[in-house]
Amino acid sequence: MAEKPQLVSVSPEDIETDECLRTYTHIYSPDLLIDQVAFITGGGSGIGFRIAEVLMRHGCDTVIASRNLEKLSEAAKKLTSATGKRCLPIVMDVRQPETITAAVDETLKTFGRVDILINNAAGNFLCPATSLSFNAFKTVMEIDTMGTFNASKVVFDKWFKDHGGSIVNISATLGYRGQALQVHAGSAKAANDAMTRHLAVEWGPSGVRVNTVAPGPISGTEGYRRLGGSLAETAGAFRGIPLQRAGNKTEIAHAVLFLASRAASYVTGTILVADGGAWLTSANDMERMLGFWSAEKRKDK
Ligand code: NAP
Repeated sequence: MAEKPQLVSVSPEDIETDECLRTYTHIYSPDLLIDQVAFITGGGSGIGFRIAEVLMRHGCDTVIASRNLEKLSEAAKKLTSATGKRCLPIVMDVRQPETITAAVDETLKTFGRVDILINNAAGNFLCPATSLSFNAFKTVMEIDTMGTFNASKVVFDKWFKDHGGSIVNISATLGYRGQALQVHAGSAKAANDAMTRHLAVEWGPSGVRVNTVAPGPISGTEGYRRLGGSLAETAGAFRGIPLQRAGNKTEIAHAVLFLASRAASYVTGTILVADGGAWLTSANDMERMLGFWSAEKRKDK
């Protein structure tokens, strides 16, 4: 087979764990986000952590906000030491608007502004609809969908309304083809995709852009572990992806950086799928997913 062009087969630097990159090659100017502040929900781990790092490597200070202070504080130390930019860890639950209000107040007190909101916090697991409790479905909707609305509304009311800004939601492609064992997350993310367009329309006149990145399977993440990514990789399932591999966290951070920054100054209401083409071709294999789900359940017992 002919050698693959470098642009496709060579992915940018990444590390599987929640550590900062040992080396980083800038794609955009390191000053792209100079003097800006980004507020990242769920920025203490996985994709959110790498988004924080890449934005900081482009000049911006960050707030990383979620429920676990220990995890956030540890992450903030690593991020500041690797990038030299400030990172403020704040405890907050996206399901509780009053905690978001307090977090945004603290952000404005510390940094005096907020330019970018990344709605990345989410919870997911595999579960067939018949085994999914009413409460489990509701919880995922509350974190993924209501959490995205809550954070967007608080940041808009407190700052974006008068100063403009950029919102990037982290979605998923699960709902595009009715992914097996994912009715909860697929439904929640589909609602968020609609929300992206609604808010882009309503808030555009205030100078607010609202966009979404929809990742495919991303290695080195909780989502990848919980949803059977390694098993799919071992079983050769990723050969069905046009780009024939899982993505990495840096690749998602780069898609976010584009949409969050002035590189996308005329882009709003859009969904950028960053999945190597996976949703177009990958098998939606109910039997394999059920096998993985029941094996994990046995392990939990
Ligand atoms: P992750 O590390 O588990 O990230 C989720 C983050 O959300 C955690 O840092 C968690 O922190 C935070 N969080 C959860 N519930 C919260 C709440 N109620 N309030 C505030 N923060 C909360 O998983 P990930 O795989 O990197 O996923 C990140 C995003 O990418 C998610 O939106 C996910 O749907 C999307 N995505 C991931 C993949 C993938 O392959 N990994 C594929 C498609 C889409 P605390 O526990 O401290 O609250």
